[in-house]
Amino acid sequence: MAYPPPFEALLEALESLPGIGRVSAERLALHLVRQPSGPRLAEALGRALSQTLLCATCGNLSAQSPCTICSDPGRDASLLLVVEGPRDVEAIERAKCFAGRYQILHGALQPAEGTEARDLALGRLWERLGSGQVREVVLGTDPDSEGEATAYFLADRIAREHPRVRVTRLAKGLPAGSALAYLHRGVIQDALEGRMELRRRSD
Ligand SMILES: [Zn+2]
Repeated sequence: MAYPPPFEALLEALESLPGIGRVSAERLALHLVRQPSGPRLAEALGRALSQTLLCATCGNLSAQSPCTICSDPGRDASLLLVVEGPRDVEAIERAKCFAGRYQILHGALQPAEGTEARDLALGRLWERLGSGQVREVVLGTDPDSEGEATAYFLADRIAREHPRVRVTRLAKGLPAGSALAYLHRGVIQDALEGRMELRRRSD
């Protein structure tokens, strides 16, 4: 006998998630309908989806737009840290070592996977640079090949279009291939404090 249609719809919704196939979807769905955690998860999911949005300025997850970081007058608007995703902001804020503001790319360049510059959330970055308020851009993309490629791409374009803006990269010494979001607080602090001017590849 086939599953009831609402259950089948749940399976299809779960299967649309990355890394979840039919078997995993069935296991999760069966667990959810039989456990007391099911209704709690449904409620949390509904609330998170309806009450979490992307800040129109920095692109971070937030309950309001602009987010509390973008609207905090105590944070240096001339210092912009560019990161790949909200998890990076979370890790850096937890480390309490950065008083500037953020720009979230929602990804990194992955030419082999078909992720190109047009897929990144770059519009607001160019707008903020165009406003003349930004004095330094810290490129905080991950220290892996995609993050490095993204950093060099951005450094090239910023140097070309906004030559007076200082462009820096988090200090070398971050574990190669690691993800910023999972680094220890002290490592993030050292990387920020030791950030270095990033030269264009053509220099
Ligand atoms: Zn924001």
